[in-house]
Amino acid sequence: MKVKEIYKGYIWYNGEFKSWQECNIHVFTNSLHYSSSAFEGIRSYNGRVFKLEEHIDRFLYSTSILGIECIYTHRQLCDATIELIEKNNLENSYIRPLIWRGDKELTIKFIDNDINVMIAAYDYKQSFDIQKTLNLLVTSWRKAPANSMPHQAKTAGNYVINITALSEIKGTAYDDVLFLDNEDYVAELSSSNIFFVQDGALITPIANCCLNGITRKTIIEIAARNNIQVVEKFITLEELRYYDEAFATGTASEVVSIKSISFDKEGVDKVTFSDNNVTVTIAELYSDLVGANRI
Ligand code: PMP
Repeated sequence: MKVKEIYKGYIWYNGEFKSWQECNIHVFTNSLHYSSSAFEGIRSYNGRVFKLEEHIDRFLYSTSILGIECIYTHRQLCDATIELIEKNNLENSYIRPLIWRGDKELTIKFIDNDINVMIAAYDYKQSFDIQKTLNLLVTSWRKAPANSMPHQAKTAGNYVINITALSEIKGTAYDDVLFLDNEDYVAELSSSNIFFVQDGALITPIANCCLNGITRKTIIEIAARNNIQVVEKFITLEELRYYDEAFATGTASEVVSIKSISFDKEGVDKVTFSDNNVTVTIAELYSDLVGANRI
């Protein structure tokens, strides 16, 4: 997505609405060097921001993990988000808040650097597409143990391993990577959670070495309301052969069917999921809940 080419309107930048051309940072920006930034990914559907409070809760949690005190309150950030999409005339949008340490001082130890916050929002309509399926490669990189990485925070640093793993599939036909944790249990994709389906029930990894995504939690709630059983468990690669369907979940991608998971780059050893009936049901329930326009 070439954001600069599609961006229209304002960015909320340290409490003011500015044009995107005005929102630049210096090369000495501390967070650019040491990853001390945190962000969120939020969506609005037909003018309504989905789970805004939960996203801002997580944003402030991520901020606290970095030892940054955000000078804006939860209420101010929620209000700024709503005002931004109104000011930019956005109905269906992707919203990106970001907080970072500025350019007052370059050393890593200078944690009292100037703190900057911005919220950007741009037109984004992607919704469940029944034709879309993912082919995944199990990356050789592992998710760090829970005591070595703050998995519930969306800090830039959390994404270093994700970007590293994605470079493994550059130039291949794979759409994404699947991470295992340090004990070889299934964890998550580069920017989404994973679910499997077995005999109509949903099975998903325990979220200790992956982000407990807001979409993941929403899907679990939807399943409970619709009498669909959900099992959270440690999942090994061996058991994937017994599952009927698989799908990925995330704010940006919503619900996407997974077609195959390859255990080696050549795709010799892999599992293929031919069904997606339950996935489609879940995707439609999710679409209805968020208020998306169905394709
Ligand atoms: N895992 C990772 C690593 C992610 O980046 C995301 C996207 N935020 C998710 C899972 C899904 O989280 P959510 O449903 O909150 O968007």
